[in-house]
Amino acid sequence: MIKLDNFSSFFVANWKLNGNFQFISQFIAEISLPRDKSKCIVICPTSIHLYYMSKNKKEFYVGAQNVSQHKDGAFTGEISADSLSDLNVNFCIVGHSERRQIFCEKNEEIKLKSVNLINNNLIPIICVGETLEEKEKGITNDILEEQLKKSIPNSSNFENTIIAYEPVWAIGTGLTPTNEDIDDTHRFIREHNDKFNKFKILYGGSVKADNAKLITSLLNVDGALIGGASLKTDEFTKIIQD
Ligand code: PEP
Repeated sequence: MIKLDNFSSFFVANWKLNGNFQFISQFIAEISLPRDKSKCIVICPTSIHLYYMSKNKKEFYVGAQNVSQHKDGAFTGEISADSLSDLNVNFCIVGHSERRQIFCEKNEEIKLKSVNLINNNLIPIICVGETLEEKEKGITNDILEEQLKKSIPNSSNFENTIIAYEPVWAIGTGLTPTNEDIDDTHRFIREHNDKFNKFKILYGGSVKADNAKLITSLLNVDGALIGGASLKTDEFTKIIQD
């Protein structure tokens, strides 16, 4: 199993429902990976492309964007953590705000998914974050507290876990919190539970080549989860090379 402590920073590309074989082949041919091997690069294509990506990848890791909360059984259309591990997938995003909002995923489900992943030696990247309305009401920390409490497994063998703080209002909008706010929120998350000291905490929401370096060098930020900018190979290359 990959040990997160072996890396100094993490850059996770969330391709969402984008990309096809041609795009992936071109991405793999064109991406220039950093010489610094302490940077952990994870690419999360659609589930249908995981196998192709695993077979053809360069020196980066492959991640999924979702997993079933069930281990196996009569759940048509679901993808199990066990199947992901068969494909040499090492990471999996869970509880992305698009899944929470569009597919009505609940914290409890996200926790079950994370447990399944850990039991199959995959690393969950558990997303939390407030909506604009919640931010404007000044209840960001309450929302995060509830998400952290209910969606993160609480057994002590869950050290190898990543949390992604993604303010929903910053995803795909070009808006970002101030660097000070990002760092404060990450500190709040880290201090939420003693165990979180061992977790890696990534920021996500409109990370681009021109803000990635500053954001990822903040004291409490261990890396970034990147959506739109990860689909542009030259921009993503700049982000990971910087
Ligand atoms: C995301 O969807 O996880 C994300 C961070 O998107 P973007 O970088 O496009 O804001």
